[in-house]
Amino acid sequence: MLNQKDLIKKVKNYNKFLNPETLSKAYKFAVNAHKNQKRDSGDPYLSHPVAVADILSDLKLDSATIATGLLHDTIEDTKATYKAVEKEFGKEVADLVDGVTKISELEGKVIENSKAENIRKLILATSKDIRVLLVKIADRLHNMRTLNSITDENRRKRIAKETMEIYAPLSDRMGMNHIRDELEDLSFQKLNPEARNLVVERLSINKDNRENTFKEISKNFTKILKKNGVKAKIVGREKTPFSIWRKMQTKRVSLEQLTDIIGFRVIVQDIQTCYKVLGIFHSNWSTIPGRFKDYISTPK
Ligand code: MN
Repeated sequence: MLNQKDLIKKVKNYNKFLNPETLSKAYKFAVNAHKNQKRDSGDPYLSHPVAVADILSDLKLDSATIATGLLHDTIEDTKATYKAVEKEFGKEVADLVDGVTKISELEGKVIENSKAENIRKLILATSKDIRVLLVKIADRLHNMRTLNSITDENRRKRIAKETMEIYAPLSDRMGMNHIRDELEDLSFQKLNPEARNLVVERLSINKDNRENTFKEISKNFTKILKKNGVKAKIVGREKTPFSIWRKMQTKRVSLEQLTDIIGFRVIVQDIQTCYKVLGIFHSNWSTIPGRFKDYISTPK
């Protein structure tokens, strides 16, 4: 668990003008509010809001949002009130915490029988300030990462289903692709473990091979780009078991027929360089007819 000092240091790293006062106060407030609570895992409850704040600081969010991460369960689960939070942290933070609490209350009431799309709309409408939704997504991500410590199997399933139908699509809409992928794959693990194991097993067969291919291709790309005077950052990404599974289902293909289990991103300074790199790549390799998309001229 991140201690107060390290959390503040982490936020200071990307926010030089940070006044540590709010964060340090919020940390202490959370310590105090949750002091007699434990999570299902037996861990002190505090570990949860701290982990949420940690996730939010990975996203380099402002200090009101990080503070909200620390405080997000204090109105719902402890005796702290809106007034108390407002008095200590001001209206901005109190409203954010209140917004997160409202969404959590909503979950308990409507989710069972409502259509996922309606709930997503309701959550969006409730998060008038988009930071509310960011905290809620970070909250859900940590709950999913620790899902196995929840003792009630039905509750675990319900949370996983809700994540797949509601929070993964919301993260997608927010452009948080990494978090969407992780939420989906964690839910998949709970909702269809047999299918996931199958994909993982099949992937593991070629793993060494893939890793070598990956390094070789990266090296090759860097060499070719350098020769053409292009400065670029090359990032690889591997599909998650869930996204592989989904693609196999929707396209009705086998794992062997999937062409994009690994992919590369070549990140450059501007649009012009992007097209230049495209030209370089097309003169070295052929495109697959019908599979080439240009999201600059026709955005998604
Ligand atoms: Mn929470």
